[in-house]
Amino acid sequence: MQSTLIRNGTLITPRDASREDILIEGETIAAIGPRLRAPKGARVVDAKGLLVFPGLIDPHVHLREPGGEHKEDFLSGTRAALAGGFTTVLAMPNTSPALTDRETLAQARALAASKAVCDIGFFVGATADNAEQAAELEGAVGLKLYMGSSTGNLLVADLAGQAAHFERYPGVVAVHAEDEEAVEHFRTRAHFAARGQPRPPICAVLAVSRALALAERLGTRLHICHVTTAHELALIRDAKARIARRNARSDVCVTCEVTPHHLFLTSEDETRLGALGRTNPPLRAQKDVDALWENVDTVDCIATDHAPHTLEEKRSPTPPSGVPGLETALALMLTAAQEGKLGLGEVAALMAREPARIFGLERKGHIAPGYDADLTLVDAEAEWVIGEQPLQTKCGWSPFEGRRVKGGVRQVFLRGEEVYANGEILAAPGCGRVVP
Ligand SMILES: [Zn+2]
Repeated sequence: MQSTLIRNGTLITPRDASREDILIEGETIAAIGPRLRAPKGARVVDAKGLLVFPGLIDPHVHLREPGGEHKEDFLSGTRAALAGGFTTVLAMPNTSPALTDRETLAQARALAASKAVCDIGFFVGATADNAEQAAELEGAVGLKLYMGSSTGNLLVADLAGQAAHFERYPGVVAVHAEDEEAVEHFRTRAHFAARGQPRPPICAVLAVSRALALAERLGTRLHICHVTTAHELALIRDAKARIARRNARSDVCVTCEVTPHHLFLTSEDETRLGALGRTNPPLRAQKDVDALWENVDTVDCIATDHAPHTLEEKRSPTPPSGVPGLETALALMLTAAQEGKLGLGEVAALMAREPARIFGLERKGHIAPGYDADLTLVDAEAEWVIGEQPLQTKCGWSPFEGRRVKGGVRQVFLRGEEVYANGEILAAPGCGRVVP
């Protein structure tokens, strides 16, 4: 069994930062402490001057395989993950075919097992008629339910269909919360379209209130994807408080995520970026972005919603929605931390501990003995400009191009294995494991 000693790094945990060594035995963290002794034959890594984060977990990525391999595949997408400091990603089911039953899920899991270079889990997709089947399915980290249409053709827009899933699904129900009726209504209303607001905030607010009400009524573990406005966060905060007051032992639970593009870009950037800034839900006004930062304590985790499309597709007359984000998320968050917007411990909580907790990844999210030796070593002083170096994602572009950030990923360990170092992917296809 290979032993590795990581020396002199500054460990970032949600509670504090401390200079300690990490001893890895095989795939697992064996010990943590000051000046640990290297066992005979151990590899020693000097992390002096580096921050050591738990391997990051992205609970919302679109790796496009099967069906969209010209945009991304399990290999290119997980390479992008490693370059961004992520050691686990949770993939969405809106592929082609969509992952909605035992067969499609098993096929995607098998494909990923042979290609992925980081650990990966899958959501099963909700349809109008698979509530019973989805609830009994093993091998998914949760159910993804599109309350409004987005990329792909997964959609459960009606209340009865949504309630069937909310009532039956035993795990986490992650919702794309934009109300389909409202989306349709405002899409055809010229005055909104003319102001460049095809999906105004009310679409999200309506869907979030419905999802919260259903979850509270039916006892659902609800996770709300990509929240974008203060109004949604206020609804979520109230629901959390109500649930906590009412029944501490209940299964009901509400969590939410925010994406880096909604934290670091505004609707004005969309005007500048054109289709490259188009995403669902859309980029919002500066006041909404400010409100997300002011209420970041209600946000449970950061999710990139990495959704690559080729430049050709984005420049076509009917550009699809979605932006890539795996390789820029950590640098953006570290830059914000150095600007005083949040603490490094919060970054570790939002990008590792909490996504692990929400989706039941029991051996991940912490730097502690017994946990998987997933570690991301970061040089907080490294300044770089997004877009100056080529990206690993197949789509090859970023909506953050030209932005100066501070914080670079130096080295990544996946279950004890060095899988990334100084710009190079060292992992072989298939070294990623499919969870659960
Ligand atoms: Zn998404």
